[in-house]
Amino acid sequence: MTIFQASANVCTISSLATNNLAANSTESKEIYLPGTDCVIKSQVSLAGYTSYRVGGPAELCVAPRNLADLQASIKYASINKIPVTILGAGSNLLVSDRGISGLVIVTRHLRHTYFDPETGRLTVAAGEPVPGLAWAAADRGWQGLEWSVGIPGTVGGMVVMNAGAHNSCIADILVSAQILSPDGTLETVSKEQLGYSYRTSLLQGGSRIVTSATFQLQPGADPAQIIASTKQHKQHRLNTQPYHLPSCGSVFRNPKPYAAGWLIEQTGLKGFQIGKAQVAQRHANFIVNCGGASAGDIFNLIHHIQNKVQDRWSVLLEPEVKMLGEFQAA
Ligand SMILES: Cc1cc2nc3c(=O)[nH]c(=O)nc-3n(C[C@H](O)[C@H](O)[C@H](O)COP(=O)(O)OP(=O)(O)OC[C@H]3O[C@@H](n4cnc5c(N)ncnc54)[C@H](O)[C@@H]3O)c2cc1C
Repeated sequence: MTIFQASANVCTISSLATNNLAANSTESKEIYLPGTDCVIKSQVSLAGYTSYRVGGPAELCVAPRNLADLQASIKYASINKIPVTILGAGSNLLVSDRGISGLVIVTRHLRHTYFDPETGRLTVAAGEPVPGLAWAAADRGWQGLEWSVGIPGTVGGMVVMNAGAHNSCIADILVSAQILSPDGTLETVSKEQLGYSYRTSLLQGGSRIVTSATFQLQPGADPAQIIASTKQHKQHRLNTQPYHLPSCGSVFRNPKPYAAGWLIEQTGLKGFQIGKAQVAQRHANFIVNCGGASAGDIFNLIHHIQNKVQDRWSVLLEPEVKMLGEFQAA
């Protein structure tokens, strides 16, 4: 029996203060952070915070609404020596049925948008939903985000994942990101410092939190034209991907020169199901929750696909989805 421990961005903070929380405690409590509007709650189900609609509870969870509250949350974790996990829109995460110990910080309420007409730069807080930004840019006739309209993540998740579609990715338009370190310091880092390549960045698996990002766009186009192009990208997604069911988008990275979906389809796995988790009929690199799937079902299906594709093609598919918490292979 294998226990698989995986994680998204987790900061284990090594301050010397006492941890007054029992690990995996099921006692429900609320902790008010003085001088802020932040309430840390215990035993919060994460199923409602992920696009797969699965996952157990966060031992502790907080959703700050501004930078000061985020800093206070980090400080609380530091003083109490609690590991921190960052969750954006949860659209690229598989959270274990056993949940996550420590403090989960949900960044989706960090909202702020500024379109600078002088420079053509868009500066946005980490919690801004990407599709909304794509539409807002299109409405202004600003080019550069049309491709991203079908990606249901936040700005922070996009910057960490180097999310991309239709031969474009976030690294193509990113100028800089504002980053909060576990010790509470804020710095602005350039794109070049973030080591971008296909669906990856130096921010993955680390302890730094993206608080905002600045993108270079091209203002001055006819809004009708950008809106039409954005609509076209959205429609293409709806036609080719199973948007009507909970998923995390593409499960595996494309192992060049192959497309993961093609390998899975050619292995005869379209429609294959474990529990209520199914390889999507519409796109074989998607696993969908058909209703009532557990994280364990999805995890076991990921392993099944990896094994079958490796047997047939001698290619080990690498998950793009980030797994959080403990998983037990069947
Ligand atoms: C239907 C569907 C379609 C999709 N299509 C695409 C696609 O075309 N292209 C693509 O690239 N992806 C796609 N995805 C996957 C997903 O939307 C992207 O990876 C997105 O960028 C994740 O953003 P998020 O806010 O949901 O991040 P999460 O899933 O919440 O987190 C992802 C990772 O980023 C970390 N993280 C999140 N926010 C922060 C932050 N502020 N600071 C530090 N770390 C942070 C998390 O700890 C985790 O490691 C799709 C998903 C779905 C459900």
